[in-house]
Amino acid sequence: MVKRNKNIEKLKAGYLFPEIGRRKREFLAKNPGIKLISLGIGNTTEPLTPHVVDALVKYSKSLGTKEGYTGYDDDQKAQDFLLELKTRISKNWYNGLVGADEIVCSDGAKPDCGRLQVLFGNDVTIAVQDPAYPVYVDGSVIIGATGEYNEKKQGFDKLIYMPCTPENNFLPDLSKLPRTDLIYFCSPNNPTGAVATKEQLKELVDFALKNKSIIIFDAAYSAFINDKKLPKSIFEIKGARECSIEINSLSKPAGFTGVRFGWTVVPKELKFDDGSPVLSDWKRIMGTLFNGSSNIVQQGALAAFDKIGIKEMQGMIDYYMENARLIKQGLDAAGIKSYWTGNSPYIWAHFPGKDSWDVFSKILEEGHVVTTPGAGFGPAGQGFVRFSAFGHREDIVEAVERVKKLKF
Ligand SMILES: *Cc1c(COP(=O)(O)O)cnc(C)c1O
Repeated sequence: MVKRNKNIEKLKAGYLFPEIGRRKREFLAKNPGIKLISLGIGNTTEPLTPHVVDALVKYSKSLGTKEGYTGYDDDQKAQDFLLELKTRISKNWYNGLVGADEIVCSDGAKPDCGRLQVLFGNDVTIAVQDPAYPVYVDGSVIIGATGEYNEKKQGFDKLIYMPCTPENNFLPDLSKLPRTDLIYFCSPNNPTGAVATKEQLKELVDFALKNKSIIIFDAAYSAFINDKKLPKSIFEIKGARECSIEINSLSKPAGFTGVRFGWTVVPKELKFDDGSPVLSDWKRIMGTLFNGSSNIVQQGALAAFDKIGIKEMQGMIDYYMENARLIKQGLDAAGIKSYWTGNSPYIWAHFPGKDSWDVFSKILEEGHVVTTPGAGFGPAGQGFVRFSAFGHREDIVEAVERVKKLKF
């Protein structure tokens, strides 16, 4: 028999979303026929836009021809497509803020996060926002960088948790933080929806520069920012090129959750303590563990990043943001305290003194609406529940009506 990997054993009772799925199925088994509405897992619901679909179909067909076929991306034609794609991301997404040669394309921000964890290895110290998107913690646990789980701390021994609560406007108090090698930072934040201002990101960048840390900046929701004064990329901040990596994805803004396309930006200036560039190691890891994003998907992404694609993407974002507005309005009408910045697809509802999983169960069993319990994102998420704006409009409207009828 083979010994189970100790680090995997350390993963808590199961990933948050499978546990929600389990509770959902258990409820449905006892209450057959009830129509649940899911505002839980942040899964997109609206169809891909026509321009993207056309590109996917056209390229799939061309792969069936001698002239159109491409294989691994060392093939010249494949390389040309990839260069055009990175150039479009550089120009149309970043306005030239980062170079095409600093962008590495992938199958999504979450897998990139896992591969970044492989890049840095387990001999690093790590800070995470609390609450946080689960892969920052769970991926670090898997590679063995976290130490043991500590019941009293409600977290892992070696991890530094940066509490993000209403008291600090959901932004960590850097003055209380020790130095760590890596700092995971997500803005707009999943799950709290908080967005850091330029001044706040500048403080974070200065903190990282002073400590010689690297920020792993998750910008998966940057396209949901409406307020023009708010930064969409960490590279809008002076000094960020010396201390930051940014991950991003078409999953949420363009509905690529199933199609799979993301990218990571590693600036040329970013160096390890021996002076070697992080970008070369990143390319090495990507080449070794991953053979690049699907060529079909790259064509979908090329379409998503052109003029028509970006316009269609904005339409999808506007749709979800109207959903978010309706949820916020409903929670306000129901007298439920909630936080929404108008710049993210998540509403963070507060039930002080209550247990997140109890509130989750009540909304599930009495309202037949699936949410996400805040405690699943970290100890500081206790007492909160996350509402996701990803859903068909009619479901959102119905879910809001159901939640409004509940008494807490
Ligand atoms: C959904 C999400 C991602 C996207 O992951 P993909 O692998 O690109 O689908 C990344 N970060 C956060 C915070 C997310 O919520």
